[in-house]
Amino acid sequence: MKSLVLERKDELRIRDLDPKESLGPADVRIAIKTVGVCGSDVHYYTHGAIGPFVVREPMILGHEAAGIIEEVGSAVQNLKVGDRVCMEPGIPDPQSRASRLGLYNLDPAVRFWATPPVHGVLRPSVVHPAAFTFKLPDNVSYAAGAMVEPLAVGFHAISKARLTPGAIALVTGAGPIGMVTAIAALSAGCARVIVTDVVDEKLAVARKLGPAVMTVNVRSQDLKSIIARETDGWGVDVVFECSGAAEVIADTVHHGCPGGAIVFVGMPVKPVPLDVVIAQTKELRIEHVFRYAHVYPRIVALLGSNQINVDALITDTYAFEDAIEAFDYAVRPKPSSVKIQIELGR
Ligand SMILES: [Zn+2]
Repeated sequence: MKSLVLERKDELRIRDLDPKESLGPADVRIAIKTVGVCGSDVHYYTHGAIGPFVVREPMILGHEAAGIIEEVGSAVQNLKVGDRVCMEPGIPDPQSRASRLGLYNLDPAVRFWATPPVHGVLRPSVVHPAAFTFKLPDNVSYAAGAMVEPLAVGFHAISKARLTPGAIALVTGAGPIGMVTAIAALSAGCARVIVTDVVDEKLAVARKLGPAVMTVNVRSQDLKSIIARETDGWGVDVVFECSGAAEVIADTVHHGCPGGAIVFVGMPVKPVPLDVVIAQTKELRIEHVFRYAHVYPRIVALLGSNQINVDALITDTYAFEDAIEAFDYAVRPKPSSVKIQIELGR
């Protein structure tokens, strides 16, 4: 099957590569329709590795996907041929201790698409467990369906924050993950979501997410005084750190209110300092997210009822034939680009 293959660092090809998957009784076969390009895909392309995950053999990229069911296993009850679906890309071992505790995203044995040595889904079809495949309502496009994966990170962060309606949240970093976290915070009933970045074009996209979004360019504006003004000097209820930048991470403890929370979503490239005493004097609750668990059905439902909309985030769409061009663009995108997607089987 014609796939987008990362042969090695810096070398992509569209060529035949068939992962030869067999359909088990609890699996479905899905014809892939839309795949989003993730920062991790781009990083494997430009660096050949993310931390301990090293590309040693040709690997198909892509893990943010939606498609249509073309075959179902004999034991599958909840899905049928022709259903439009999106998929959770990580398959844990159901017997693992993490899975049994409900923390299946933390299963060390999880097999996650486009994480070496597991192939991704920039290819015509994939076999996947029905349990990790979710039917899309008729009014949710494949493009929106392929956004459920990044949205899942934002919604998992909201669960960790234990947000309550009327809260004031700070989202540091207006990249794709900052954007989906802002959408999730709005959907959880935040009265105000302050989104920061250093690039005006990205902040302009963030403002399209809703009237409760306020943006701050931290290069030209003083975030501390803006937070003081917006919160009567108290601080924000929750900081969602989505930049991964060391200086921004260090400032999170200053922005959170007494009894508030910090959720670390962005991943710094190396260890970073944090002033624990300031966090202690405020009894800040510090949470972390790694991917997500148990959020897909809720996000699909919110998209179906039009409570959330991701159209503003899907900024660039390429045909599969132009997938290499899409990746080369993703390496150096325009600052106004948020999510680049690739369409298959048109
Ligand atoms: Zn992703």
